[in-house]
Amino acid sequence: MAPAADRRLQLGILTSGGDAQGMNAAVRAVARTTISRGARVFAIYEGFQGMVDGGEGIRELEWEDVSSILHKGGTVIGTFRSKDFREWEGRRRAARNLLEHGIDRLVVIGGDGSLSGLDQFRADWPGLLAELVEAGEISPRTAAEHPALMFAGLVGSIDNDLVGTDSTIGADSALHRIIEAIDALASTAASHQRCFVVEVMGRHCGYLALMAAVAGGCDYVLIPESPPAPGWEDMMCASLRRARGNGRRDTMVVVAEGARERTGEPITSAYVRDVLQERLGEDTRVTILGHVQRGGAPSAYDRWASTWLGHEAALEVLSASPGSVGPVIGFHGNEVVRVPLVDAVARTREVPELIRTGEYGQAMEHRGGAFTEMAQILRELVDPTPTPAERPSFSAESQARLAGLGIPAPGPAKRIAILHVGGLAPGMNSAARDAVRLGIRRGHTMLGVRDGFVGLREQAISELGWAEVEEWLANGGAELGVRRTLPTASELYPISRALEEHRVDALLMIGGWNGYQGVHLLDRERDRYPALRIPMVCLPASIDNNLPGSEFSIGADTALNVVTEAIDRLKVSGAAAKRAFVVETMGRYCGFLALASGLAGGAERVYLHEEGLSLDALQADVSWLRESFAAGRKLFLAVRNEEANPLYTTDFIARVLEEEGSGRYDVRQAVLGHVQQGASPTPADRLLAARLVSHALHVVGEQFAAGTAESFYLGLADGAIQRFPIARLNDDVDMEFRRPRHQWWLALRPVLQAVADGPV
Ligand code: ADP
Repeated sequence: MAPAADRRLQLGILTSGGDAQGMNAAVRAVARTTISRGARVFAIYEGFQGMVDGGEGIRELEWEDVSSILHKGGTVIGTFRSKDFREWEGRRRAARNLLEHGIDRLVVIGGDGSLSGLDQFRADWPGLLAELVEAGEISPRTAAEHPALMFAGLVGSIDNDLVGTDSTIGADSALHRIIEAIDALASTAASHQRCFVVEVMGRHCGYLALMAAVAGGCDYVLIPESPPAPGWEDMMCASLRRARGNGRRDTMVVVAEGARERTGEPITSAYVRDVLQERLGEDTRVTILGHVQRGGAPSAYDRWASTWLGHEAALEVLSASPGSVGPVIGFHGNEVVRVPLVDAVARTREVPELIRTGEYGQAMEHRGGAFTEMAQILRELVDPTPTPAERPSFSAESQARLAGLGIPAPGPAKRIAILHVGGLAPGMNSAARDAVRLGIRRGHTMLGVRDGFVGLREQAISELGWAEVEEWLANGGAELGVRRTLPTASELYPISRALEEHRVDALLMIGGWNGYQGVHLLDRERDRYPALRIPMVCLPASIDNNLPGSEFSIGADTALNVVTEAIDRLKVSGAAAKRAFVVETMGRYCGFLALASGLAGGAERVYLHEEGLSLDALQADVSWLRESFAAGRKLFLAVRNEEANPLYTTDFIARVLEEEGSGRYDVRQAVLGHVQQGASPTPADRLLAARLVSHALHVVGEQFAAGTAESFYLGLADGAIQRFPIARLNDDVDMEFRRPRHQWWLALRPVLQAVADGPV
């Protein structure tokens, strides 16, 4: 066989195992990054089978071949469970077919099965080549030129089951599908006071079930990592009765398909239904969500994050040398991490073994910190019975157990007030609801302050009950009302009076920039106003995602999904004509929404205030666009942050593009405006809200116990919720443009460039 004539690097990309939404985004990013680096990229169709079969199974991809796939579910290059590849002979044919194209670099997107197949292939590679040389199927020179298989693995799995990465491609979209279904079921269930048993995917991993239970406001969950002890049916029914007795109108139990009892006996959704029907006497229905979870358009996260992963995987493989160790590329928090493939697969396979041997705690730990934390949060969210805060008989043993779970030993019950300040963010309601439920469970009285600091000043404060917040979880908006207004100096006195008269012991401010500044102000004035000497905690909620200390704020993911869906529709509307769109997003001076939606929506250009916008740059874009349309482009998309430049407005850019296009294309602008604030919160925003609120209550609980009164702002950083003293609030922020000085997401800029700047 002649060696491939073109000596440029050649990279193959394939998707294998179960399909997952977001695989297309990764394929597109791998292909475009490879092409933009001057190398060649080949799609291997139908997973490993494409390389076993060769021929049409391996085809070179050009830039345009991966256009218009970002928004599609599944994988456009196909996936397959290849039996042939499990055999030496199949892998031998695969190696031969790859070398026919000069490919010795691979990016494989799949689950742990696919990744271990890849590792097997890597290990066999020298032996396979030796055999091919011996059989005269390849030349010794070809074998010498390709001494090793270089690769990177990306995890495509809706189960989020790979140990070593916080998230896998497809899991967020699957959660979207599940929560859409649960929200829909909840409304009908509540109308009829019915029970629903919802079965979700997850043979060995309860991620989807657990997260869906928290984000969907469900009452009980059964997952493989935590098989219930004998007699669990009684405990489940008692818990459901308690919730009903306290005002729940429906009952929702989530069962992971791999849920088992401690004996190893599967727990089926039909069995759970029978139990509920018999013991609670409730009309109970089962909904098995099945493949719906794999279907539909990928979420915004599964597009921008998978694009980032695909970009990194291509760079990794293109720079690899025969001695390199092939990694799995994933995330720890918002950082791209590389873990040795063999370790990741081995640790993933430990989980079923840990479950089998009864080491449930360790099985949960393998799933990462947030998993255990969520399991605990769910237990508290569904239980309306206050912890016996003032009961002296609360044993030392119980206290130690609670402390181990991150719950401070209960002190005397306290009165905690919640308020929202800033712009409206989807998920404010979810956070307030979770705060009320967790607060009550932890023995406190929860108070709602209407309309931010204005309501606080006017004493618009009332107690919130467990049942009262029932429907807040899925509702966008803010039942408590939200105002941007900051307190003035003269309002500090009435505010401190309000806190005193309502005996407020702590304040949770769930909101945005002005809320943080307001709490900072109250904190500074505590010497003059003794009523302000209480713990105050700020929780980030803003679609702008511009708050210090947090990689994400509640609401940003929802707004991002709204923008991404709007872009999808615009693109469909423009596909029939040669059209350029300029879309304007919110975000104030923070470009997160613009850049992330540009990545998720497949924009060619993104204009951000952080980078500035010059006439020269605009001119360069105009010439590029003109040539690009002349060469056959049909659609162009630019996303502009609302404050990118005070003079080069969205309207200005649209007019320039139109004028300079000389009729080659027409231009439309879309200012998305307040729709970005109006949606039902996404699962990610609901989960972030639950974690932040649980932590905030923990922070105030600790202070009640210690008798201190410090104020903090909380954030999600490095995958965990962290706290920062409010006194440090303005240390690392740009006060003029109201955003943190360091913004992690700017690392996505080169990713967008690599996938958007196509050849003219
Ligand atoms: P997933 O990747 O979603 O876990 P599978 O476990 O079905 O899905 O694996 C997908 C494919 O990967 C298999 O059909 C097979 O082609 C390949 N594969 C899995 N394990 C091995 C192995 N040990 N050796 C070779 N190929 C394997």
